Amino acid sequence: MILPRLAGCPYCIDGYQPAGVDLYLGPVYMACQICIDNDAIDVCADCGCDSLFPAFTSAHRLAEHLARYGLAPVLCLGCFGITDFRAIEDHSGGTR
Ligand SMILES: [Zn+2]
Ligand SMILES: [Zn+2]
Repeated sequence: MILPRLAGCPYCIDGYQPAGVDLYLGPVYMACQICIDNDAIDVCADCGCDSLFPAFTSAHRLAEHLARYGLAPVLCLGCFGITDFRAIEDHSGGTR
C-alpha cells in the first residue's frame, strides 16, 4: 500500500503553524502565513491574523493558568484567537 502524499500546506496543520512560546500562554500557534499568502485561509477581518492560539486543550485550563498571573485573555471576535490580556480584578476583598 502506498500512503497518500500530504495534502495541502506543508508548513501548518489546518491553517495553524507553531509560533513559539509565549511568556504567559506557553506554546502558541498562529494562522499560517503561507496559507494566507496563497489565499488558502481568509485573513481575520478583526485582528488581521495577529491573534495567538495557545496549545492548551481547554479554555478552562487556560483561564486557570492565566489567573495565576492575574490575567484573563482578550479574544478576537473574528477568529477567537487571543489578542491581548486584561488584569483580573481581585475579588478576595481582603487586605494582606
Ligand atoms: Zn499553511
Ligand atoms: Zn482574529
